[in-house]
Amino acid sequence: MQDTWESVACEIHEESGYLGGAIDAFVLAECCGLSIRPWPFPTACIDLTSGTIRISMARSPRSKQRLVAHEIGHWALRRAGVEDSEEAADYVALALLLPGCTVARDLAEVSSLDALLERHPNVSRRSLARRLVHLRAGSRLYFAASAPTDLTTSDHYLI
Ligand SMILES: [Zn+2]
Repeated sequence: MQDTWESVACEIHEESGYLGGAIDAFVLAECCGLSIRPWPFPTACIDLTSGTIRISMARSPRSKQRLVAHEIGHWALRRAGVEDSEEAADYVALALLLPGCTVARDLAEVSSLDALLERHPNVSRRSLARRLVHLRAGSRLYFAASAPTDLTTSDHYLI
């Protein structure tokens, strides 16, 4: 299933003309023809008919990025004819924010989670750790990390 979800994210990157570097979910939504509107609730949702994502503007910048990417994930899965679920949208969201090819290139150049985070300021440490697990790239970074504190204790089990 993960290969299918990766393909769904790849398609979005290709169609949006992504050339590498950090992703901004708000820009990505615009490239997909989706609009973003504020609403008073702490969660997010997407109206697939109008292509409108609604999110709370009170959330932190990274949280908003994750929520918008998650809603793009729902949209992209349905558009691709792939079964939509919360798990699938979460996976596609991370694949959208952290494209596999870009992360692989970054990992060849950096040796700590912090350095990787600097290259992807729109994602949290936890999201980045989860994505490294998806890509099975975490162990390389873990062993190359300059200090064990590069990963929080709660992230250890993920890597
Ligand atoms: Zn959802």
